[in-house]
Amino acid sequence: MSVEPVLGGTVKTTCPYCGTGCGVLATPRPDGTVAIAGDPDHPANFGRLCSKGAALGETLGLADRLVHPRIGGARASWDEALDLVARRFSETIAAHGPDSVAFYVSGQLLTEDYYIANKLMKGFIGSGNIDTNSRLCMSSSVAGHVRAFGADTVPGTYEDLEHADLVVLVGSNLAWCHPVLYQRIAAAKAARPDLRIVLIDPRRTATADLADLHLALAPDADAALFSGLLAFLDEAGVVNTDYVARHTEGFAAALDAARAWTLPRLARRTGLAADQILSFFRLFAVREKVVTVYSQGVNQSVCGTDKVNAILNCHLATGRIGREGMGPFSVTGQPNAMGGREVGGLANMLAAHLRLEDAAHRDLAQGFWQSPAIAAKPGLKAVDLFRAVGAGRIKALWIMGTNPVVSMPEADGVADALRRCPFVAVSDIMARTDTLDLAHVALPAAGWGEKDGTVTNSERRISRQRPFLARPGEARPDWWIIAEVARRMGFGEAFAYEGPADIFDEHARLSAAGNAGSRDFDLSGLVGLDPAGYESLAPVQWPVTQAGGRTRFFAEGGFFHPGGKARFVVPEGEQTSATGLISPSARGEIDRSERHLLLTVRLNSGRVRDHWHTMTRTGLSARLSGHIAEPYAEIHPEDAARAGLREAEIVRLRSPHGEVLLRCLMTDRVRPGEIFAPMHWNGPFASKARIDALVEARVDPVSGQPALKGSRVSIARYPAA
Ligand code: SF4
Repeated sequence: MSVEPVLGGTVKTTCPYCGTGCGVLATPRPDGTVAIAGDPDHPANFGRLCSKGAALGETLGLADRLVHPRIGGARASWDEALDLVARRFSETIAAHGPDSVAFYVSGQLLTEDYYIANKLMKGFIGSGNIDTNSRLCMSSSVAGHVRAFGADTVPGTYEDLEHADLVVLVGSNLAWCHPVLYQRIAAAKAARPDLRIVLIDPRRTATADLADLHLALAPDADAALFSGLLAFLDEAGVVNTDYVARHTEGFAAALDAARAWTLPRLARRTGLAADQILSFFRLFAVREKVVTVYSQGVNQSVCGTDKVNAILNCHLATGRIGREGMGPFSVTGQPNAMGGREVGGLANMLAAHLRLEDAAHRDLAQGFWQSPAIAAKPGLKAVDLFRAVGAGRIKALWIMGTNPVVSMPEADGVADALRRCPFVAVSDIMARTDTLDLAHVALPAAGWGEKDGTVTNSERRISRQRPFLARPGEARPDWWIIAEVARRMGFGEAFAYEGPADIFDEHARLSAAGNAGSRDFDLSGLVGLDPAGYESLAPVQWPVTQAGGRTRFFAEGGFFHPGGKARFVVPEGEQTSATGLISPSARGEIDRSERHLLLTVRLNSGRVRDHWHTMTRTGLSARLSGHIAEPYAEIHPEDAARAGLREAEIVRLRSPHGEVLLRCLMTDRVRPGEIFAPMHWNGPFASKARIDALVEARVDPVSGQPALKGSRVSIARYPAA
């Protein structure tokens, strides 16, 4: 189905998929289709696109769009829908207090949407209960940054990948998940064959094709490996003692703890041969320009924050941070995970990098907003939030731009919780998702190509998403929907925005006020942009002072802890995290009655190259669906033999929380005892492929990020022999 162009000519915008944040040129054609090309001027991609970005034009049809508000499944007017949301939230707050309501938002929202959702919840409702699906993506990196640097600041820039002599990729399948960054590294390696690449990942992913060394370590052994590296760097005499003395604290304690990781012990814990470990350590020691890239394999773990800090420790010890070609680099999964971090889109953050637990920061935000309230404590993080919904403590919930009935761990428990919740509103672009099906009120949101605002990518670069299509039916921008609900709750004056430029200016002014005298998240250089200035805003890295954007941090110290020093963190070692069952009905053990028939393995999950999250958009492209046409499980041949499985037959995976049916793909890309399955498939045609229905909601105790890659599941033939 064709779409209606709103503007003539080519529009510069930003890809709505991964955190690479590639610039896109979109040109609506008279026949209603849209030509897509990479923006040669955008510093994230310089004209490159991956398969998903290149197929954006194929995902823009109007099929299955939500185009009118719905109440109880029936079409309603905007007034009826907005009045109902505002009334149910106001009544719930009046009867049960501000912590009886919650927002669950998304890294798909634009920064302006995120900003006012957070302002409404924390400043006007007075609760911290706004969390985001980015909790599932990079919150362990945020927590690690705050522990080490004193603020959530990414030190480097994509260019560093091209200047490095060694790129270490930890738990990161860049080839499929951040393909343009992979292309940039591949191009750098083609130009400079001496560039070395090490992949640290239990699975031999497509990224291994580029790696000189692949360490297929045991799951969750990363913190041990990098602790061992810290001790090795000290023994090798490559610790930058001057940097450590001038700009850090806590090195001696970290080194002391690291020395416990002798080579034999490390080999046992990681499952790696001693010479493999030493090859990596020697490379890291002798190559000055090292960038360590990490993502979900590090973050989505019960010890994700410790893994992050173990990596940061090695860069701090060598002073390899914030200089050209050097530094730790957390890459974000979603297009605006970073933007959400800037405006307090996580339950434990305020806005503008102000700290919720700091009374002076709370006063500053409340004074700036002139708000009647301010959240006094952090709100519920994603897993706890849905557990509170299931337990009846959250009585009104608004979900924006995300599909937790597919993507949250214990996904069936999340569905149960939503069924029990007295009031659920969902904003979405699609007419049918597993989450929307459970909503009392459905609010049609504008999609990519219709929305207007900004996003921030993994290297802190703010870019514009610009509209080039008419909004279908009655779809509205998220910021407008939130502001209308706020107005109907009695907060109209503070939410009377003309448009996204107006919201962005307020965000920039709060960031400037909140960071006065600091070099952290200052946006004073973007204060006062008029609509034309906002419209033409070129991609820029924050902070943006009057002197312009800033590329790198910390080469000369300047950390954000009191005293300006970074802190080494001693990883806690093997942790048993809090277990957070969302659904009380899910308690149990793996197939107790059938245990003797079954093989128990560890489930790893992740993305495939050509699909995005729950496939609501990429599933519309036949070309993208042609890459991998159906859900599958990668199973090591030894495990397949033990379970009596044959190639390509259907296998049943079970946990106490759910069951899925997948096709068996026998491969030694996974280690024995571990399987991998993609996270995307769901909906009526793949309802038995929802991987997160199997996953237990165990979380990292520091960040609250769920361990999506480490659940025990049983595996058996289907139907059982
Ligand atoms: Fe989009 Fe990421 Fe691909 Fe770039 S690498 S085109 S941001 S999906």
